[in-house]
Amino acid sequence: MNTMTAVNTESSISIRDLTLNFGAVQVLKRMDLEVAPGEFIVLLGPSGCGKSTLLNCIAGLLDITDGQIWIKGKNVTWAEPSERGIGMVFQSYALYPQMTVRGNMSFGLKNQKMPQAEIDARVARAAEILQIQPLLDRKPGALSGGQRQRVAIGRALVRDVDVFLFDEPLSNLDAKLRSELRVEIKRLHNKLNNTMVYVTHDQIEALTLADRIAVMRGGVIQQLDEPQTIYNRPANLFVAGFIGSPS
Ligand code: ADP
Ligand code: MG
Repeated sequence: MNTMTAVNTESSISIRDLTLNFGAVQVLKRMDLEVAPGEFIVLLGPSGCGKSTLLNCIAGLLDITDGQIWIKGKNVTWAEPSERGIGMVFQSYALYPQMTVRGNMSFGLKNQKMPQAEIDARVARAAEILQIQPLLDRKPGALSGGQRQRVAIGRALVRDVDVFLFDEPLSNLDAKLRSELRVEIKRLHNKLNNTMVYVTHDQIEALTLADRIAVMRGGVIQQLDEPQTIYNRPANLFVAGFIGSPS
């Protein structure tokens, strides 16, 4: 019997009753999550709690065991990643080393057979927003870690999508770059006003970036609230301990 209430089609992302098993292990446990258009949601939790798995389910990179995923009012539970209208940025930059920055940023659009003039315009705009114009003809090997991660963000940006998924995009960077890029990601969000789902295990990142934080443990969302509420009124000892202590 299906007892699910109707999906809110105004939401940017609706996750309903999502379960994901790896073999006999239930990694996500009947999870529900509604993300409003333009919202910056941070998934925060310790290593192994299922953050990347949840992001990969939204992106369509994993077949879910049960439940539904809706994006912008469409049921995409079984849609291909390319049909979901999302852009994803990973922890490792996953750039093609033999291609220039321009080539890396254009690649996905070329595959979609987009006209070259449109590709050039999109790359130019993304490069301007991220201030990487001087890097366009370089190869990834000639870039710093921070520059590479900017390019990885640029590659998502050119797709002109409403939903961005970030999986620990800053965790390979040193502390100074991390805080610089954190500010830039926040600025990017203010400028584009798109929906962001951002995975981290870093409390500072979560508290400074999020409109709302989902604190996860063992495949379950323990608390979903604004940063101030999470900080001042943690729902349980786990949340209090996790937000309270540096990892
Ligand atoms: P997080 O991103 O929060 O660190 P993950 O989503 O990567 O956590 O992993 C959640 C759990 O699922 C972990 O226990 C991990 O070992 C397990 N897991 C992740 N990917 C796989 C896989 N492909 N096969 C089996 N188990 C996996
Ligand atoms: Mg992860």
